[in-house]
Amino acid sequence: MSQILISETTVIEEVKKAIAQTQKINPETIQAEQSLMKDLGAESLDFLDINYRLEQTFGIKTARHFVLEHIEEMFGEGTAIDENSQLTEKAIALLKIRLGNENATQLHPGMDMDEVSPLITVKGMARAVLDILDTLPEKCSSGGHSAWTVDHGTRIKCGVCGEEAAFTDGDTLVQEWLRKVQDEKKLF
Ligand SMILES: [Zn+2]
Repeated sequence: MSQILISETTVIEEVKKAIAQTQKINPETIQAEQSLMKDLGAESLDFLDINYRLEQTFGIKTARHFVLEHIEEMFGEGTAIDENSQLTEKAIALLKIRLGNENATQLHPGMDMDEVSPLITVKGMARAVLDILDTLPEKCSSGGHSAWTVDHGTRIKCGVCGEEAAFTDGDTLVQEWLRKVQDEKKLF
């Protein structure tokens, strides 16, 4: 279900904080539209650190694998990235849906795999966190209570028994999304 306990604004603020701690910069200088790699100096390994901080903050598990890897695993080797490390037309079609309008013009078949990560923005990371938070079950699993509350501003807990909310993990969510898009659009 779609959760309303933690707002997009809160998530964006927490993403900025996580980036600021990893990159050792002032969170107030970070803008939602900025690219982590191009504008904020993040490298591949920094993404792991930022994701780890967000996992601790929200009690979630973020995706370990990028959507391109999931495409290859689900639809076969070479379906997303060809032998020259260039993105296929089908991969581009999926990324356009995934990354949203703000990046659509920068995506084109034949672009290099390495050109994709720089398109990840602060807002894009926040959206991934929100997608996970939106998998909040209706009730807690131990007592069946519908009484979610927010602890420390970011942790969703049962207000009756104190159980921490169990969310779907990021990789499962990407896989579910890919299956849904495939059912609708039959790209592969
Ligand atoms: Zn409960």
